[in-house]
Parts: sequence; structure tokens; C-alpha cells
Amino acid sequence: MSILLDRILVVDIEATCWRGHPPLGQEREIIEIGLCPLDLKLRQPLAKESILVQPTRSQVSAFCTELTTLTQAQVDEGLSFRQACGFLRGQHQSQKRMWASYGEYDRHKFVKQCKAFNVKYPFSDRHLNVKSLVAIVLGLNHEVGMAKALELLKIPLEGTHHRGDDDAFNVAKILAHLLWQTPEIGITSS
Ligand code: AMP
Ligand code: MG
Repeated sequence: MSILLDRILVVDIEATCWRGHPPLGQEREIIEIGLCPLDLKLRQPLAKESILVQPTRSQVSAFCTELTTLTQAQVDEGLSFRQACGFLRGQHQSQKRMWASYGEYDRHKFVKQCKAFNVKYPFSDRHLNVKSLVAIVLGLNHEVGMAKALELLKIPLEGTHHRGDDDAFNVAKILAHLLWQTPEIGITSS
């Protein structure tokens, strides 16, 4: 399948979480899929979106609400994981587009949860790891978190950190900066 190169779908998920391990009988599940398409012609992020997902094997803990602001009541109104993956395919042609996330966590979580719920993986195999790109472009000898990357690039952190849509928007801004605002260095013609 040929890949569409009109935009990159920047994705950031939030999942149920606890201070330590999940309580007995519960497991970490996706509760929000944050999405922000980066338009490659306009060279800017398009509207961000939050797709809430209702967990079926875990509950939103007080710790998780403190981290993400998401409550059980909010995610109870969400789509099923299957519906959310269908939405990505239907509305965003996610299986035909390049996509990006900050690190490998989001990709691994999708692979794992699709397998566990027997849901078709909604993305293409063209995944960009923005966390690695930041370290490469800035010449760092270790990868850094999203907030640190924004600080190093002097890009303001907008919205609420640990909300999927806001995180996706901030990652899209980082990616746009790396693609189009990094000064060309060391390239000379002979
Ligand atoms: P993030 O994209 O950084 O908001 O993190 C994605 C998910 O990772 C969160 O929704 C949590 O499930 C988990 N997570 C992130 N930070 C923490 C933390 N400090 N403690 C426990 N879980 C976390
Ligand atoms: Mg996040």
C-alpha cells in the first residue's frame, strides 16, 4: 500500500496507571488517544483531537486522575477501543499515513492492546520516533522527555501535560521545528 505524504499523524496516548504496579486483576489500558495531524504542505499542526476510550479491564485511579486530569466518569463516555481504532481508520486514514509519537511507548501499547483485544492494528508501519529525532538533531548523547525537549528548543509547552491531545500538539510542534526550523549546518557544496 502506498503511503500518503500529505500529513503525519502525531499520536499520544494516556493509559490507566497507578503509583506502582496495577492492582490485582487490573491492567494498563488506553483511556485517551490524542491526535494532532502535522500538515506537510502548510508545515503546521492542524486541529488537535482527544478520543476518549472506555477501559474494560481497569479503572481510573485517583493517581491517574491527578496525573492526567481524566476521571472515570469522563472515560465512561468514551468509545470502545475497537470503535476508537475504527475511527482512526475511517476519519484519519491512519493505516495509510505516516505517524509519529514521542518514544516507542505509544506504538508498543497499541501493538499490545490490539493483540489483547483482537482489534486490527490501525496504523501503518511508517512510524517516526520524535524522541530519538530530537536527540539526533540536537546532538545529545541521551534521549530526553517531551518537556525537556520543548525547553531545549525554546518552544512553549501549551495546554495540560499528560493530556493526549495537548501532548500530541506539543509533539507536533517539536516535529515541525525539527523538520523546518533547524538551521542547516555543516552542509557545503564542493
Ligand atoms: P504521557 O504521554 O507522558 O502523559 O504518559 C502516558 C501514560 O504513561 C500516562 O497516561 C500514564 O499511564 C503513564 N505515565 C506517565 N507518567 C507516569 C508516572 N509518573 N507514573 C505512572 N504512570 C505514568
Ligand atoms: Mg501524554
